[in-house]
Amino acid sequence: MDATPKTPRTTVARQRDRGRYDRDTINAIIDESLICHVGFTVRDQPYVIPTTHARVDDRLYIHGSVGSRMLKNMRQGVPVCVTMTLLDGLVLARSAFHHSMNYRSAMLLGVAEEVTGEDEKRLAFDALVNHVVAGRSADVRAADAQELKATSVLRLVIDEASAKVRRGPPIDADEDYALTCWAGVLPLQLLPGAPIDDPRLMLGTPVPTNVSTYRRQRAQSDID
Ligand SMILES: Cc1cc2nc3c(=O)[nH]c(=O)nc-3n(C[C@H](O)[C@H](O)[C@H](O)COP(=O)(O)OP(=O)(O)OC[C@H]3O[C@@H](n4cnc5c(N)ncnc54)[C@H](O)[C@@H]3O)c2cc1C
Repeated sequence: MDATPKTPRTTVARQRDRGRYDRDTINAIIDESLICHVGFTVRDQPYVIPTTHARVDDRLYIHGSVGSRMLKNMRQGVPVCVTMTLLDGLVLARSAFHHSMNYRSAMLLGVAEEVTGEDEKRLAFDALVNHVVAGRSADVRAADAQELKATSVLRLVIDEASAKVRRGPPIDADEDYALTCWAGVLPLQLLPGAPIDDPRLMLGTPVPTNVSTYRRQRAQSDID
């Protein structure tokens, strides 16, 4: 399986058996996560900004207003750390100490570059809206020249990354298995509610299938 090269700074040190470096695992986490957190440092002060993203092959795209501090700094070649976190369950142990969470998370390191070509910028725009709802770009008006100009798009090549995955029941101390309190996993997942029509929706407009049947991808084996 294709893997990102394991570098000293992406090698999981704590609980190293939970570390994953293959692209399939990393890409699946990036794609299922609706949002990421982008960390960068400006004049010795770290900032971590939640935002949305999209992946196309080995490229991660992030966009925002041309005035955004995050994007202005990333454009100048500031090193970034981007993380995605999928919370799969609460792990409730017999001792307070061994409580945990089941999760899949990814961490990408690198230096982002600004996308200047119009074709790639449009490709990124489509990917960003399709990341939120698959196929959405085909249903809506594409960005016009003014909207394109007002938006910065940055590209981070995914070539230094790791994933970390925790699954399964609590891991208690041997002597605590004799305790009578409940222990186990409470699975959690992101589920949509019923779609709410925009008050100004044209009468009779149906909810598209990609909205009415919306789900984030998730394998059952990831929730257990
Ligand atoms: C939902 C959730 C809850 C967590 N709760 C806790 C908690 O309460 N306490 C706690 O100590 N830790 C918790 N973790 C794990 C935490 O993310 C770190 O893995 C852990 O703290 C070790 O950090 P470290 O800097 O010592 O990692 P190291 O193992 O030294 O990190 C080395 C490299 O491993 C990779 N790496 C490390 N962690 C991750 C990760 N999570 N995802 C992808 N790559 C990674 C990175 O490339 C990193 O540069 C939680 C994780 C998640 C997703």
